[in-house]
This record gives sequence, structure tokens and C-alpha cells, in this order.
Amino acid sequence: MSPKKKIVKRVKAKKKAVEVKEALLLQPPRGMRDILPQDQPYWQQVRRVTEKAAADFGYRRIDIPLVEFMNLFSRSIGEGTDIVEKEMYSFSTKGGEKVTLRPEFTAGVARAYVQHGMHVAPKPVKLYYIGSCYRYDRPQEGRFREFFQFGCEALGEQDPVLDAQMIQMGWRVIFQLGIRNVKVYVNSIGCPACQKSFRNLLVHYFESKKQKLCIDCKRRLEVNPLRILDCKEDKCVQVKVNAPQSIDHLCDDCRIHFKELLEYLEELEIPFELDSTLVRGLDYYTKTIFEFIPTLPSRDESVSENEERIKKNALGGGGRYDGLVKMLGGEDTPAVGFSLGLDRLVAEMKKLGAKFYREPKPKVFLAQLGTFAKRKSLRMFEALERAGVMVAESFGRGSLKSQLKVADRLGVEITLILGQKEALDGTVIVKDMASGNQEIIDAEKMVDEVKKRLKK
Ligand SMILES: [Zn+2]
Ligand SMILES: [Zn+2]
Repeated sequence: MSPKKKIVKRVKAKKKAVEVKEALLLQPPRGMRDILPQDQPYWQQVRRVTEKAAADFGYRRIDIPLVEFMNLFSRSIGEGTDIVEKEMYSFSTKGGEKVTLRPEFTAGVARAYVQHGMHVAPKPVKLYYIGSCYRYDRPQEGRFREFFQFGCEALGEQDPVLDAQMIQMGWRVIFQLGIRNVKVYVNSIGCPACQKSFRNLLVHYFESKKQKLCIDCKRRLEVNPLRILDCKEDKCVQVKVNAPQSIDHLCDDCRIHFKELLEYLEELEIPFELDSTLVRGLDYYTKTIFEFIPTLPSRDESVSENEERIKKNALGGGGRYDGLVKMLGGEDTPAVGFSLGLDRLVAEMKKLGAKFYREPKPKVFLAQLGTFAKRKSLRMFEALERAGVMVAESFGRGSLKSQLKVADRLGVEITLILGQKEALDGTVIVKDMASGNQEIIDAEKMVDEVKKRLKK
């Protein structure tokens, strides 16, 4: 190839590269997606049921920023956790602040609790939230990088009855959404006192199996050995099976707390399973932790229940975090909370053909013909809407025939027809869709007439 040709080729290649770089991708980043109107009835159902439960149990809503300082999460969730090490969307702002898109809510809620001096309020302070979270996770079925959570936090109470109530609430919400095939897995990882001796035992155990651990876990052994317990790598899952169990090494206080919780769960008749491998991947947890796992009718008998739990996506979970508020600079405040993954609830509901929210349908259709009538009908629409009557229209359509077709399709009870003549006379035609009868009435009395007929 001549040198000139080479240059031309290179320039062309460069031009192409630039074009590729600038191409507009008509899709959001990986792991994120639109939730389209046709899916919203499921989401609406989830929002209604969760918010109703929150209100019933005495929780008040809190909204916190999507973005927080990075160290809020790295300190509370913990260095050496998957979330902090691999999954956070962190960046520097133009002002040079290091910030992170919230990977979960609890840290931010605890931060708000301390910042706004909520400890002076009667205890427990009960808060709930609903919103999106972000984790740079490997996208797979039921796992998104942008996902939505509903959750509750009760701060200022150490009684295990609250732990039980959290489980009861989560379970009730899931059940009310029509998801009946769910089991609760519970564990206790103890308080800092019992965690210390347990930690030593773990280190001792994993040291002896070090060769069988993944690269990350070899490192975790130094930094944060507890986190080996939530590794999802197959070989680490195998090693974990025989690892020491935290419930065997609880201090008296933690043991009694856990025992009482289990008694409450029995009282509530909530099916639960002890799972000593459950650790939930966040450092701030103390004592109780739990997860809600869907149980499929066809269980694979070749894998243990623990492995099955790990393989499946939890619908939600939570636990106690007695040390978090103090760690953030607040008073010593025992606390417990849970969250549910809305994306997963919706997916499960769809799989099961569960009931979704049905929007109320309009019972009145407003048809119009001609420019003057169209102008009048805008006001008529508003009058009905103000009176609390749901009205449908298709103002954009010209012919009366095509508008009436829409009215038919919607299955309304009454169609109001406003033609040029009626608009000038100050009247309107009321058509009863069932009988087909039409009547001309005074436009002033239209709202009352419609209400009267709908009542019948
Ligand atoms: Zn303890
Ligand atoms: Zn591992």
C-alpha cells in the first residue's frame, strides 16, 4: 500500500471511530430500564399495598436525597463489602465533593435521624421510604442496577418484638400482593461483643481453607472476614457450609433476644427457617437478620436449602442495626428495619398472575362537533372534573362518528354531545349508552344531571 493510501485509510478509520463514539444509543445504560404504562398497574398495586401497611403500622414517610457523601456509605455499610468495593456509583462533583448514588436507604435515614435530632421524639421513631437505589451489580434476572425499594426503620427500641413486627409487616405486604409461596429465613449475627470471638473462629477456619477461596475472599480474610459469608462464588459457598455458625457463639443477651424473636414468630404463625449462613452483606447489622425468599413448588432436591436460598433473589430482608446511629455521631440508639425490592415483587406477581391495580374508568364521554363547541366543551370537561366525575374525550378527532366509536369502546354510561347548535343555544345532548335514548338539557344543569344519572 502506498503511504498516501495508508494515510487516507487511517483518516477514514479515525473518522469512523469518532462517528461510533458519538452515535446516540436509544437505550438507557445497562441494568436500567423504563417502566412503561402497561406495567404500571403492578407497580401501582405494590405502592398502594406497601404504603397502606406503613400507615397501618404507624410509620411516617421520609424522603432523602438520591446522592449522599460517599463516606456515609463506606463507613456504615463497611469497607470490604461487595457494595462498597464494587457496586457503588461514586463520582466527584464539579465542586470536588466525593458523592455516591444511594445503594440502599438505611444509612441515609440514620444520617437524617441524627442530623434532625429525631431522638427527642417519642420512641421508637418509625419511618418509611420508597424510591430508587443504584448498584453497579452484574445485571441478571431480577437484578437491576437501578432498582426500587420500599422499607421501614424503627429507631430507639431494642425489644425483639419490633424485630418480629418488621418481619410480620414485610410478610404481610408480600402476602397481600398475592405472593403466597414465601419463607422467612432468620439468623442472628450477635452484637460486637459476640462478633469479636466469632470473628476469630471464622478467621481460624477460613485460614485452614484459604486455598479454596476466591481471590476476593482471600483478601477479605485480612480486611473483613465476616464478608466471606456472603460471597456468591461457588467454591466459597462450598467452603462456607462447614464454617462456624454465629448462633452457636452468641452472648447471653443476644441469645435471649433471638429466642424471644423466634417465639414471637411462632406466635404469629409465620413460617421461618434458621439459616446460619445468612449475613446480608452489610457491616452495620447486629443481632437479627432476615430475608424473604420465594419458594418455588419445584424444588431442586440436589442442592441444599442454603444453596437454594443463595441462588434465589430475596424479595427483601432486613435486620437490626443497634450501632449505626452512634457510629454516625448520634446517641446510642438501637434500631431495626427491613426493605422490599419492588422490582422483584412485581416480577413475582407477574409470574403468579397476581391481582394488579385497576384504574377507575370514566363513565362519561364528552363529544363535540365544530370549533365553537370544542371551545365550550373544554369548560364542560373542567366543570365535570371539578365535580369529581371522571370524563373521557377525544377532542382531537373531527367526526362525531369516530368520537362515538371511542365512547363505545370505553364502555361509558353517558355520552354528552355538544354540536354547533347546542353550543349556541346553551344546551347539550345527553345520551344514555345502554338504552340509546337522547335528551336535550340546559348546559347549566349538565353537571347535576350527569351526577343524578350516574347515581342510578
Ligand atoms: Zn452479643
Ligand atoms: Zn469468595
